Amino acid sequence: MSTHSPKFGFTMLGSGSSGNASVIHGPEGNLLLDAGFSAAEMRRRMNQASVDSASIRAILITHAHNDHVNKCGCARFANELGIPAYLVPETAQDLQEKNINIPEKTMLFEPGSVFDLCGVHIESFRVSHDVAAVGFTFSTSAHKIGYATDLGFVSSLAKTRLGGCDLLILESNYDPKTLRASNRPLHLKRRIASNIGHLSNDDAMKALEELLAPNTKHLILAHISQQCNDCSLVACLAEARLAELHRQDVVFRTARRDAPLDTIRLED
Ligand SMILES: [Zn+2]
Ligand SMILES: [Zn+2]
Repeated sequence: MSTHSPKFGFTMLGSGSSGNASVIHGPEGNLLLDAGFSAAEMRRRMNQASVDSASIRAILITHAHNDHVNKCGCARFANELGIPAYLVPETAQDLQEKNINIPEKTMLFEPGSVFDLCGVHIESFRVSHDVAAVGFTFSTSAHKIGYATDLGFVSSLAKTRLGGCDLLILESNYDPKTLRASNRPLHLKRRIASNIGHLSNDDAMKALEELLAPNTKHLILAHISQQCNDCSLVACLAEARLAELHRQDVVFRTARRDAPLDTIRLED
């Protein structure tokens, strides 16, 4: 018997410094992970990826940067559907301070807390960034998805939480040489490369040795900088690294800024 509605899966609607949003497909409904585009753009991308926007039951927010919480888009999308946004108290505060609209329904959770939504078990964990930020894992009894972007380094906490994922989404933000040569202000270059900034390609590739589990089947390299990186470079590095680790069984993709990736279904 075949079914077209996956019980558990992941659709990346887009990722990069201009916007991040993904859909977690759960057995009892779908979740939006970050809402970094306008409401219309999120709908357009869902349409493109054959995701019914009315199936979204809640929004999970990693942190308050506007590429994760679009100034109007996040609240508009949530309010139109009457769904709640889940965020940590510091993120709610950061958004208030930046005068960014917060959805009418919000559910605050502490970093490290666990909860269930849409038949998916969700764990949050703090990541090192220049504002309060979290990563997430999503699991069912059979499978696990891990998501971490916007982190200055892969802490031992992140390594522990991201262990054993069937699908891992990890940031590979910048190429150090391109970042140094870019015309970005020095303070910004320093912030990006710091322990509270972003993962370089080298950081991400290095972390794979510990993050790839025997059951890892899919890898998405995400939040690839437009100015300070190159998707084909990330793909080359990932291919070489997976070969080095004898993990050519892992199917990897590079996230796109401009379009969704195909839905990854995790089925038995
Ligand atoms: Zn970001
Ligand atoms: Zn950020």
